[in-house]
Amino acid sequence: MRKVLVMGEVRDGSLRNVSFEAVAAAKTIAEGGEVVGLLVGEGIAPLAQSLITYGADRVITIEDAKLKAYTSDGYAQAVLAAVEAEQPGGIVFGHTALGKDLSPKLAAKLDAGLVSDVTALEVVGGNVVFTRPIYSGKAFEKKIITEGIVFATIRPNNIQPLAQDLSRTGEVTSLSVDIKDLRTIIKEVVRKAAEGVDLSEAKVVIAGGRGVKSAEGFKPLQELANVLGAAVGASRGACDAEYCDYSLQIGQTGKVVTPDLYIACGISGAIQHLAGMSNSKVIVAINKDPEANIFKVADYGIVGDLFEVVPLLTEEFKKL
Ligand code: FAD
Repeated sequence: MRKVLVMGEVRDGSLRNVSFEAVAAAKTIAEGGEVVGLLVGEGIAPLAQSLITYGADRVITIEDAKLKAYTSDGYAQAVLAAVEAEQPGGIVFGHTALGKDLSPKLAAKLDAGLVSDVTALEVVGGNVVFTRPIYSGKAFEKKIITEGIVFATIRPNNIQPLAQDLSRTGEVTSLSVDIKDLRTIIKEVVRKAAEGVDLSEAKVVIAGGRGVKSAEGFKPLQELANVLGAAVGASRGACDAEYCDYSLQIGQTGKVVTPDLYIACGISGAIQHLAGMSNSKVIVAINKDPEANIFKVADYGIVGDLFEVVPLLTEEFKKL
């Protein structure tokens, strides 16, 4: 039994879903011990209750104007203060841009082992056994942390959050931390990513490759995405050809996604692309080449011209 600190991640004034998934992971790691939510930022206290309704026993908030935008320097000071105050036996972060940046730094400072990019976990014989993909998703390894803090980052969309219980209550306390002058100050945040559903947390992803042929060619994909409440992604081929922004790139050197449904349109299925999407629950591939590699990982394949198939799918889904 151990106390576990779990980081709630805030974006645009709301908690990201991965925060609730992290609470579920923390419950497993705690083995009946206390799960303490942690929120860092400015004006974040109103979000504390929702972490409790998803399973946190109580929440600590650390608010400071210097923490309004994420910096590893500022957030590390805040999280280390919370660790100092709480002395947890476990820490969980989402395997997000923030988690990937901050957790190794914290693990080093805390002299703790870190298991990153966890897709599943279970308790076996008193040890928390973490499963994580290796070799770009071609194999999985199981890891345990044998001493010190059990520190893990979890991949979004893989660990089922607990059912929300609106009747749950818990204490919310504010921890006062003297955040020292930051070495990096965020003056302005310029968004490049397209509006709409967050790619790494989306339940449905419609991805376009070089086969879309132009920026204009993404329009039918966006229309299908609008109907399905999906996010639009891309292969590096499409990004390199300047059909879309690199923030949409999925793959080994882009984002890793594991949606319930992944529809690949005009993507050949290069190994580096598969590294970012092959763990999706259901994969549909649309490609005019019946020999395309993407069909090897697809659950459903449509051999045809995406400019004919995608609008047909959109029309059919509109009827549902
Ligand atoms: P292509 O391979 O050109 O495939 C286009 C496909 O579209 C073809 O299969 C064709 O049959 C089909 N098509 C064409 N017209 C139509 C149509 N009208 N209807 C239906 N189908 C059509 N790639 C990534 O995606 N993500 C990464 O993170 C990534 N990282 C990389 C890292 C390294 C170090 C390297 C070397 C490469 C990386 N790549 C990555 C690039 C990768 O190797 C491929 O070059 C890239 O994925 C190809 O993109 P594509 O499938 O869109 O294009």
